[in-house]
Amino acid sequence: MCLICDRIEQIKRGENPYFVKELDTGYVVIGDHQHFRGYTLFLYKSHGNKTELFHLAPAERTRFLEEMTVVAQAVSTAFGAEKMNYELLGMGDAHLHWHLFPRVAGDMGTCGNNGNGPVWWYPMEKMYCDDERPTEHELSDMKQSLLLELDKLL
Ligand SMILES: [Zn+2]
Repeated sequence: MCLICDRIEQIKRGENPYFVKELDTGYVVIGDHQHFRGYTLFLYKSHGNKTELFHLAPAERTRFLEEMTVVAQAVSTAFGAEKMNYELLGMGDAHLHWHLFPRVAGDMGTCGNNGNGPVWWYPMEKMYCDDERPTEHELSDMKQSLLLELDKLL
């Protein structure tokens, strides 16, 4: 089973502490590591052999993109983004999932191109270090803020 299918199973069992909300096409979850505060993922509901946007039927694809956009807007408002970054990657886990990063000036420190550039230019060992994991209290606050904004838009 892929990591994302595994996380979705945790959501269905009510055991995923990062889970925020279920939409028609996917699940909204807060990212495990929060160097980029407000980092959120939108996980497509099913995996199967649908690993590219062009594998989805047009109506389903439109709905998935529309819902991702709403999630991005909620993330932007909830966490005060200056600019949202959107990424659909999948070389690690092919399961369709959006990485939604609220970006603010200075969030790369001196990394990247003089502090500018995609989040992935921030060193992996710093981005994924345990110090960047939200505390239970922080996570609870983040989920509440995001849910509030999502519910305004949906
Ligand atoms: Zn999967």
